[in-house]
Amino acid sequence: MPDTTATAYEALVEFLYRAPIGLVQTTLDGAITMINPMSAQLLMPLAPDGDLLNLFDVLAAVAPQLRQIASGPHAPGGVICDGLRLPLAEAKPDGGTPLTLALSLIKIDANTLMASVSDVTLAMNKEQQRMTRKLNDATRTDGLTKMPTRAVVVERIDAALQRAHDDPDYQFAVLFINADRFNRINVTLGQANGDELILQMAGRLNGTVRQRDSVGTTSAPTSTAGRLSGDEFVVVLEGVRRVEDVERIAQRLIDALNKPYRIGERAVHTSCSMGVVTRIHAAATADAVLQDANLAMREAKRNGGARFCVFVQLMKERAWRRGSLETELRLALSEGQLFVVYQPIIWLKSGAIAGFEALVRWRHPERGIVSPIEFIDIAEETGLIGALGEFVLNTACQQMVAWQRQFDSHAAAVISVNLSRAQLAGPEIVEQVRSALHASGLAAQYLQLEVTESLAAQDQLVQSRLHALKTLGLSLALDDFGTGYSSLSSLHQMPVDVVKIDRSFVSQSESSAHHRVLIEATVKVACSLGMQTVAEGIETEGQADILTALNCDKGQGYLYARPLPADEVPGWLANHRSGCLAH
Ligand code: C2E
Ligand code: CA
Ligand code: CA
Repeated sequence: MPDTTATAYEALVEFLYRAPIGLVQTTLDGAITMINPMSAQLLMPLAPDGDLLNLFDVLAAVAPQLRQIASGPHAPGGVICDGLRLPLAEAKPDGGTPLTLALSLIKIDANTLMASVSDVTLAMNKEQQRMTRKLNDATRTDGLTKMPTRAVVVERIDAALQRAHDDPDYQFAVLFINADRFNRINVTLGQANGDELILQMAGRLNGTVRQRDSVGTTSAPTSTAGRLSGDEFVVVLEGVRRVEDVERIAQRLIDALNKPYRIGERAVHTSCSMGVVTRIHAAATADAVLQDANLAMREAKRNGGARFCVFVQLMKERAWRRGSLETELRLALSEGQLFVVYQPIIWLKSGAIAGFEALVRWRHPERGIVSPIEFIDIAEETGLIGALGEFVLNTACQQMVAWQRQFDSHAAAVISVNLSRAQLAGPEIVEQVRSALHASGLAAQYLQLEVTESLAAQDQLVQSRLHALKTLGLSLALDDFGTGYSSLSSLHQMPVDVVKIDRSFVSQSESSAHHRVLIEATVKVACSLGMQTVAEGIETEGQADILTALNCDKGQGYLYARPLPADEVPGWLANHRSGCLAH
């Protein structure tokens, strides 16, 4: 062999010898024929006796299947395995990822295998760190909006609480935001559009609050806007100077969020409610602060939504009372503590009986008779309204049939039953009404359902439900007209037969010309649409005279009768009839 070749050969051997990668040559059954020092070093932990005779024997503990795989029909030059990870469980250099080797095995020719072994512990470590970081990011950044998550929000609140503890002048506030009726948007527009709406809301929130800067300087007011879940957002305002500033920012946020949204081709209107916890009312932990802010948000919703409400301790007591009321109401339903009273409705011109409105009452074992004002919205929030509504409906229909049998069939005219918003949300209401009619034997024409005006005319779902109810042959009344969203100009869109003018208009009819004009306009528009009008809450002869003069069809109120227990109705009817005849 010429000198130069010999030198090159030596250089190659030297190179392979010193290579920072382990190289092993074996026979087909794994007997090691050549091995470089790096391989020996890497594989030694697997060969406790120090025997590096057969590669498959050495690797038997970590890759028991290797001998069998290698014996397969591999063509020369074929890859048997590539980068096979071999964790050496015992060896953990820094308590992190166990020492890990990567093994590649190639069949060089009919009799020879070549293995390369390398230490990939570092790479594995990095990979693991990257995964942890990614996971961490996922728990700190909301996937949809890229806003901080609850975890970050909680950290910010904790930090603010700590600062407030150290610095008596430090002000901060937590703003809990929730879209009003977001579920309905999700149902009517689909989830993709619901997501789009969330995104746009997040954009407006971010655009309206000044973002916390990355270095987190604390001298200027800074804020963190985050998303808790669904349509729940939280803004943590830090370093605000005065409580009034908090209210100003809260209102600015509400205004920004309440502007119409454009989703695809359509304009979507949704409002938001907000609960605010300020420093002086802040509880000791972030979770408790969030709970209180949520409570205040619910209060804002109960007050009609599209507003903010500042948390005060009293709300907690009220919430607690509501909680116990819920438990009691469940019991009331199952133990028959609920009953129905009936308030007469009369024709204003003739004084003849036009019907009755069924109103639910609760005979509470300790508190006596409880008004529905105290429990209807709890029943709605808890889903108990379904059972409650069914009870009133069945009782009222049965009572009506009993009266029709007792007097002549038209004596009591029409029975009105109130339906609340929550009852119209589900499709089961139509079946519920049908079966109440069927079970009692009441003809549908004698049943009227009252829905409140705040069930906005634009709501497609409610509209279709109302139409479905009407096809049963009953009539519909629009309750509390004048207090809600729809105006006279949208009355024609409502599938109703009767408009009930709210008590607040009637009670001011004697003193306010403005209210008289409104009543007159309502009566005229309703009449032109073929709808009848009922004045609610007539308490004086004066009011009755005005309403009669303004051509309102019917009246209801304490002047004629308070809501009566069923057994007092026959007596009242007899009395009333003789009164009418005497006139
Ligand atoms: P509403 O449907 O507007 O019922 C009329 C309310 O006004 C009744 O109060 C009635 O007692 C009261 N009222 C009648 N005449 C007068 C009057 O001359 N002066 C005054 N100041 N008040 C008068 P109630 O029975 O406490 O019911 C309150 C509300 O609770 C009802 O308002 C209705 O929205 C709801 N509600 C009652 N029963 C039911 C029910 O069975 N189901 C549902 N979903 N809601 C019900
Ligand atoms: Ca009513
Ligand atoms: Ca009413």
